[in-house]
Amino acid sequence: MSINEQPYWNAFTETLPFEQLRAYQLRKFKKIATWAYQNSKFYKEFYDKAGINPKDIRTFEDIRRVPKVEKGMLRDAQRKDPFPYGDLLCVPLEEVTEYRQTSGTTGQPVYQADTWQDWEWWSECWAHILWAQGYRPTDRIFLPFGYNVFVAFWAAHYAAEKIGCEIVPGGVLDTQARLLKIKEIKANAMMATPTYILGMAETAKTKLNMDPTQLGIQRITCAGEPGASIPSTKKRLEAAWNAKVFDHAGATEIGAWSFECAAQSGGMHVNEAFFLVEIEDVDTGEIIEEPGHRGKMVITALDRIGQPCVRFDSKDIIEWSEDPCPCGRTWRMIKGGVVGRADDITKVKGVLLSPSAIEEVVRGIEGLGDEYEVIVDKLGDVDRIKLKVELLPGHEDQQKSIEAILKDQLRLKTNLGYRLEFYDFGRLPRYDVKARRFKDMRESH
Ligand SMILES: [Zn+2]
Repeated sequence: MSINEQPYWNAFTETLPFEQLRAYQLRKFKKIATWAYQNSKFYKEFYDKAGINPKDIRTFEDIRRVPKVEKGMLRDAQRKDPFPYGDLLCVPLEEVTEYRQTSGTTGQPVYQADTWQDWEWWSECWAHILWAQGYRPTDRIFLPFGYNVFVAFWAAHYAAEKIGCEIVPGGVLDTQARLLKIKEIKANAMMATPTYILGMAETAKTKLNMDPTQLGIQRITCAGEPGASIPSTKKRLEAAWNAKVFDHAGATEIGAWSFECAAQSGGMHVNEAFFLVEIEDVDTGEIIEEPGHRGKMVITALDRIGQPCVRFDSKDIIEWSEDPCPCGRTWRMIKGGVVGRADDITKVKGVLLSPSAIEEVVRGIEGLGDEYEVIVDKLGDVDRIKLKVELLPGHEDQQKSIEAILKDQLRLKTNLGYRLEFYDFGRLPRYDVKARRFKDMRESH
């Protein structure tokens, strides 16, 4: 078998028997928690206060006693010297080679320091992802992202080089110029957010009179939003480009922790050699081991040394998948990818609502455009929820029947009634990278 035919980037760790994998994680957890405790003022004070010394960790039960870190704590710890990483930094400042920051729209960003070793680790994580999704040295990948202070696809860029692909950086070009470049150099793969990938296809058709399915893109890796794991959105993405679309989830403070493999068996693998993922019951705080029960992800990057991430409360809502993946990896899967954020899942009229459930409905209906907007507000004491959608050109006379289907599906999938507003195609706002389609106008938020 030639190297390119090998299904795994690291056949040893990716198929390690589960008990051995767990023993490996336990050993690595103890090592990184001890490192953080000994080298960062933040973790030292945090664990001392909780009466924990990582050296005493022997079992997964012990790990559960290690207190969780929340984003706000990271921001507070960074208000000290050395600027801008403060008490989180575990190495002398001169060993930091990479600066990135989180991209949330509210509050101060978290600054992320990585050493060169960490950066090698980032690209190694991504190398596993790309190889598992079928990327090989013969691929020419176009990267249409901003190459700025946000980590986005930076590490994917280095990983693609590492596995031998040819990388075309589409940095400061606008969308039309990017499309023309893809056509000119015959790129066959790309990576971006689902919102941007859909927007690109629309621009190709409306501004350049170009058919995106004819551009020869075979493979697209999505990140930054959950869309590529929402079945109806994935279908639209794949149809728009006539390409295979794969999901990935990662974060600046954490790393590239999960991926959909080429088998596409309905979920994302956790990279369990490099991360410890725990799922916590939102109500009881108990750790959920069994499949089929959703909870909040608590995650540890097992090898990140510059600014470690140990038991980080990520607020991502996930659940373990029941079935092993046909690809043969022993790394567990999370069913349906990241299904929401604890912050986004909100109660409307006493019912738990996840915005991605609305997306799944809207994009599953023929005749509706990709864009939508959800607005929750209050009339007196009563919550109201409004959904704005666009009719695709040529479907204007079907508004009544589409409205009936939409109402039924929304009721079925979300248990809520909506006020629906229909708009002509192109009237709702478009987003460049990450979309903000959910607006909660109630005072308590
Ligand atoms: Zn798999």
